[in-house]
Amino acid sequence: MSSNIRLRKVCQHCQQTFIAQKTVTKFCSLPCARRNYKKRKKEEKVTQAILTTNELVLDRYAFTPKNSPPKSVNNRLNREWLNIGDIAELLGVGERTLFRTIKDASFPKVKVGRRLLFNKQYVLDYFISKSVEI
Ligand SMILES: [Zn+2]
Repeated sequence: MSSNIRLRKVCQHCQQTFIAQKTVTKFCSLPCARRNYKKRKKEEKVTQAILTTNELVLDRYAFTPKNSPPKSVNNRLNREWLNIGDIAELLGVGERTLFRTIKDASFPKVKVGRRLLFNKQYVLDYFISKSVEI
């Protein structure tokens, strides 16, 4: 029995037909095998770089403020000066209800240009004093 099998194969690197001694041979020559190995390593590096970049992008996206709305709302209500929408949210009442209340001359409010601003502590004090009267 002869081990000298002759197979017609196509080199996986230069695409040329060659006669292979073994069935597992993929390249026509050693230089082709080396070049293909280098090319494969380079492609692995590129793929790894793309994956790393994607992870970085995903990480950055996961920490943008718009992905955590409850936190940003809290931060806004923690400010000393609030607008009517914030006060309504703080008290858990509708803006329309609040509009009637702030018409009271003793309700603490400041007009800045065309906007009404409210000092959170003064507003809370106002409601506390009112609750005593009722
Ligand atoms: Zn080749």
